[in-house]
Amino acid sequence: MAEPRRLKAKSASPGIASGPAFLAERPDAAPASRAVGGYSALEKAIDISIGELEHLADGADAESRDIIDFQIEVLRDPTIAEATGARMEADENVVFAWVATLDAYIGELEAADEEQMRARAVDILDIKNRVLGALAGTPIADFPPGSVFVGKDMEPSRFLAHDWSKGGGIALFAGSTAGHVALLARAKSVPMVVGTGRFSAADGDPVRVDGDAGAVVLKAGGMLIPAPAQAPASDTQTGSSELRTADGVPILLSININDPAEIDALDPATAGVGLMRSEFSVASVADAANEVRQLAIYRRVLEQAGDRPVIIRMLDIGGDKPLAGLEDLPALASGLRGIRLLLARPEIARVQARALLRAAVFGRLSVMLPMVTFPDEVDRMRELFREEAEKLGRRALPHRMPPIGMMVEVPSAALMLDAFGSAAFFSFGTNDLTQYLAASARDDMDADAGKAAPAVLRLLALAVKLSAGKPVSICGDMAGDPSYLPRLLAAGLRHFSVAPARRPAIRSAIIGLNADGTRAAGE
Ligand code: PEP
Ligand code: MG
Repeated sequence: MAEPRRLKAKSASPGIASGPAFLAERPDAAPASRAVGGYSALEKAIDISIGELEHLADGADAESRDIIDFQIEVLRDPTIAEATGARMEADENVVFAWVATLDAYIGELEAADEEQMRARAVDILDIKNRVLGALAGTPIADFPPGSVFVGKDMEPSRFLAHDWSKGGGIALFAGSTAGHVALLARAKSVPMVVGTGRFSAADGDPVRVDGDAGAVVLKAGGMLIPAPAQAPASDTQTGSSELRTADGVPILLSININDPAEIDALDPATAGVGLMRSEFSVASVADAANEVRQLAIYRRVLEQAGDRPVIIRMLDIGGDKPLAGLEDLPALASGLRGIRLLLARPEIARVQARALLRAAVFGRLSVMLPMVTFPDEVDRMRELFREEAEKLGRRALPHRMPPIGMMVEVPSAALMLDAFGSAAFFSFGTNDLTQYLAASARDDMDADAGKAAPAVLRLLALAVKLSAGKPVSICGDMAGDPSYLPRLLAAGLRHFSVAPARRPAIRSAIIGLNADGTRAAGE
């Protein structure tokens, strides 16, 4: 029987997984897409929505049928599609052109003198969301649960749409341990290796991913040794979020969540959510335009967190986090990402701001701005929040203004932190900070990350001093690596936010260190 073939790789997420290979499409093939298309996509979405409404009308009582008939009539009225088309000609994305057109209509109805007209606003809101749903496009193709994904790279949305509860792993020919899929895999304890180099395997061949040793094992006569069952790591024995260094200084240990379902890892040993990457809840531009959908996601996270604080980061789109449906916009071609993209496409930011303002009444929400470079970016986003809060007030929708803070992940912001007077708090994103300090690409950063660490740590120590007593935390991957803890503590950091799977290791490391980063006696 042929010996198994063992290929060396880099571990991106620990653990061992065996299963049939799923070979992703050839890298030169067109990428799977959830792009929503142009005017014809809108016409199709309107047709789908009319069909759905007609179906609903069939079984409805007379009163409901009246409402549905009115909605169908509005959808059939060509002026709405034409107004949307005019916005699209002015370079607006179809989804946001639709939202803006319908919002304008809703605004007119809400301002009407007659009570009956005002009551129609909600019917239009309903069709706005129905068409948005139909515009969402075809979801990215999934692969069989329990299989090992083999390919050049993997899209974050594909990772998130997949059911990992049946096991399985990821082996990438290229990729980086700092990439976003690696980050998602670590958070969900999905074994993953990167940098295997191209190897040949057939769909369904048994493959083992060894995320502990950093290897891929290919079939040996169709047989593979089964992976040992993995017991999920747990640090919940203490039943309390209270954590102190060996010399008694209180430390906050929070979790980073990517998929909103990860909020289930928020047990009593967790201080709260230090970073929710909202971009992973938004798979297409249609999702980004859907206030109600976003509100439901944020509300669930906040309610589950109860009285513990939750920091939700606004959409960090661009760079290696593309948003399906936005690829064709000139905004992305110029390399905009994070808050710059949000300010360049305020229609996206306004939807999210409204969803966040409305969600804030359900828990202890703070909002964090991604990739901030200059102070005026924070000021402009705060102003946008104020404007949206005012609109919600006029519509009598419950909302609350959350504290608005910022990620510190661009070197110039870190160096000038004392200039960010209007940010309520700071959180260090060492993943991007490392990338931009070391002039490396995030997808190919592994070789430089260790060498750049001293510079990153020096910059962090300086930035903490410039933070003017405001709350500071660290949510980049450096916070989840115990070897950096002494220097991070010595820099004055007292709040760490890490992937749920990294929490036990960080918790025990903190207990063995003094607040100045020195090892406790007897450790
Ligand atoms: C970071 O850059 O460190 C960070 C936390 O943000 P992300 O990894 O999502 O870019
Ligand atoms: Mg970042």
